[in-house]
Amino acid sequence: MLSIDFDNTYARDLDGMYLPVQGAVAPDPALLWLNEPLAADLGLDPGALRGAEGVAMLTGSAMPMGATPLAMAYAGHQFGGFSPQLGDGRALLVGEVIDRHGQRRDIHLKGSGKTPFSRGGDGKAVLGPVLREVLISEAMQALGIPTTRALAATTTGETVWREAPGQGAVLARVAASHLRVGTFQFFYARQETARLKRLADYAIARHFPELTAGPDRYLDFYRAVIARQMDLVAAWMGVGFIHGVMNTDNCAISGETIDYGPCAFMDTFNPDTVYSSIDRQGRYAYGNQPVLARWNLARLGETLMPLIAPEDPAKALPQVQAALEEAETLHDAARRRVFGAKLGVSAPTDALIDGFLDILTAQSADFTQAFQALGRAASGDDTSLTGLLGADPRLSAWLEPWRGALDRPGAMARANPVYIPRNHKVEEALEAAQAGDLGKVHRLLAVIAEPYRRRAGFEDFEEPGTPAHYQTYCGT
Ligand code: AMP
Ligand code: MG
Repeated sequence: MLSIDFDNTYARDLDGMYLPVQGAVAPDPALLWLNEPLAADLGLDPGALRGAEGVAMLTGSAMPMGATPLAMAYAGHQFGGFSPQLGDGRALLVGEVIDRHGQRRDIHLKGSGKTPFSRGGDGKAVLGPVLREVLISEAMQALGIPTTRALAATTTGETVWREAPGQGAVLARVAASHLRVGTFQFFYARQETARLKRLADYAIARHFPELTAGPDRYLDFYRAVIARQMDLVAAWMGVGFIHGVMNTDNCAISGETIDYGPCAFMDTFNPDTVYSSIDRQGRYAYGNQPVLARWNLARLGETLMPLIAPEDPAKALPQVQAALEEAETLHDAARRRVFGAKLGVSAPTDALIDGFLDILTAQSADFTQAFQALGRAASGDDTSLTGLLGADPRLSAWLEPWRGALDRPGAMARANPVYIPRNHKVEEALEAAQAGDLGKVHRLLAVIAEPYRRRAGFEDFEEPGTPAHYQTYCGT
């Protein structure tokens, strides 16, 4: 029997901010992949999750006792344009559990069927994008970057039509919460200040309990969200991660990476890199991510002004602006920390960081390989670095100050992954999975589980694919 000890605060405390829903009944539900260590961490019995009731929950077909399935309301700026009503259109929150570390975590399904927020959509998801989220989010976790987790991937036995027929699938995802910048925007746009306040109080209690009693708690909350987002985006930059759809509805208050759609890890370094087929203007290009994160945070700031200065929201503007200026400083510091570790330098100048990255751009070097080569150069072997970047006349001029500043060579191996989920390896694994063979998905999961440790037999995962223009799709 599946028994889960839910404690559903969202359903209990935030009425009026969601709609109760039921998942679609899957005609032939099957479990494809279960994250057993995560299940154990959540206090769930993997054996029970594999059973009929477990699979019914993981597909959304039938809920266990104590679940309060609901679709959250949220709005969002998508590619800069505001949609006042998005919401969970193909997802539902099953409930919340307290994990082994005392942390509250949402169990949520993506692809579980239509909801009142579905608009024209079918509420479904297909196998490729579901497994893609499994692979990329597991990689992010192993890289040490805050992220939602994948608990399970199931198939529904249904054919779901996208550009071509696909296998219906559901991702069970775990998150610190599903509060987004867009959740705040939903109530701000409707001028529902009382609900906005309840939402903010809830978010503070859940994610920043230390701020609960403060006299300036809404401003403190804003600054705390900013700090987490700036750390997050700097961490993305450090591994070459491109989110692809940094809309405000995909920006989590918790500071976790959320909503893996057309995301990808960059191979050839270039700040202008865009992989998403729908990002035609390059709004969410690699190099734009820090600025776009701040843009999203500016939207959050607007929603908090009626709470920061209830008597006259406009009076909160200087404080919100100061917090956003601070965001830039926080990001720059986080960037120096992240790239400093990658360079083995504890206090790098921006010129040192940018100097190396400029050479990578000019030489169309592979981002991951270049930092591996730099690690070898730090231990005295320049061969691979010269092989990759030696054609650039600026290299020797850069190496000299770098060697002078190199004071933490030991940090490099923990900051520069050997393995990332390379685009061609992800595609290869997904293609095989769609044809019924999960072997390559399992192999890739094994490789990325320890991204910083080189292991024999995985040499092919260090190589970039053939340089063709890679494109990713939302798959919604
Ligand atoms: P996303 O691109 O996944 O961040 O989703 C943006 C919005 O579109 C959210 O409100 C989703 O719930 C909604 N959405 C995406 N795909 C579907 C679908 N197949 N059916 C219904 N709603 C969807
Ligand atoms: Mg989304």
